Amino acid sequence: MNTELPNPNRVLVIDDEESIHKLIAARLRPEGIAVTGELDGVRGIARAISESPDLILLDIGLPNLDGFQVCRKLKEHPATRNIPIIFLTGETTMEAKVRGLDMGAVDYVTKPFEQAELRARVRAGLRTKRLQDILERQSFLDGLTGLWNRPYLDQRLESELNVAQRYGRPLGLMMADIDHFKIVNDTYGHLFGDIVLQGVAEELRGYARRSDIVARYGGEEFALLLTDTPLSAGTFVAERLRTSVENRHFEVHGKIVTVTTSFGLACTENIAGEVTPDALIHAADRALFASKDAGRNCVHLCDGTEIVRVTGNESSLYIE
Ligand code: GH3
Ligand code: MG
Ligand code: MG
Repeated sequence: MNTELPNPNRVLVIDDEESIHKLIAARLRPEGIAVTGELDGVRGIARAISESPDLILLDIGLPNLDGFQVCRKLKEHPATRNIPIIFLTGETTMEAKVRGLDMGAVDYVTKPFEQAELRARVRAGLRTKRLQDILERQSFLDGLTGLWNRPYLDQRLESELNVAQRYGRPLGLMMADIDHFKIVNDTYGHLFGDIVLQGVAEELRGYARRSDIVARYGGEEFALLLTDTPLSAGTFVAERLRTSVENRHFEVHGKIVTVTTSFGLACTENIAGEVTPDALIHAADRALFASKDAGRNCVHLCDGTEIVRVTGNESSLYIE
């Protein structure tokens, strides 16, 4: 799983003059900035939506849709709303500047532009974008474990489900819940409980595949989205994670403590009825519940209306 952020460096130029495109590309490319362009607003908006650049340089005097109208549309669309816009303009009136900034543009560059000024303003715009990306990512990470959080998982589940359905690929969902975690907290204290949560998260992250999306779903419950993964392959992943958690040693007051985890697995190919995010979560939850019911520290999967035990060790940490 990858929570790294790439450095933003892609700039889209929307300007009806070819010469401006050449000039900007010549100035920015040596800085390691990737420059693409469109000559009118409609195409510019379409490209912004499909490529989501890190910054848009937008001419005000465009044919058909003018720069202000393009700006408004970009700010209205969820895919382009957060991309910083710098207006390119020959106009220097105060009114025009204020109007653009009021519409959400971050800056202005007046034509004909100074090389150094253009570069400095673009760099500043990209820095803003980077901070914005960091803040956005931060809001999707769980503070204790560094895994993705539930809002992120819910969002990704929806988009990965769309992709899976469009391309006819299987999407797996795994739910994992630490066994008798309340006893761990009650016996060794909440702080040690937190260390266990971090350790389990590390195992899940370390033993999941790079393409898997690993999230803390709630208190001591985790969810993994397994892209392009049928039930059979998901079972191997679950079993690998189950044994890796079981084999991790935690130390408290010179004593070795281990914990176990129960797993429930579901896949879009094996859902009874309509495949929705809720249906997939419900199916994985049912399988997880069956693992708890069967004595914990094991893996169950949901196949249509049936729940099937796959693997597992009968002994969880504490036997009722
Ligand atoms: P089961 O095997 O049925 O899942 O039993 P359990 O004890 O793990 O489940 P239960 O839902 O009864 O208890 C979960 C516990 O997890 C209770 C709650 O205090 C603890 N917990 C939730 N979030 C945190 C956290 O962030 N840190 C710590 N230390 N404990 C937490
Ligand atoms: Mg639990
Ligand atoms: Mg629980």
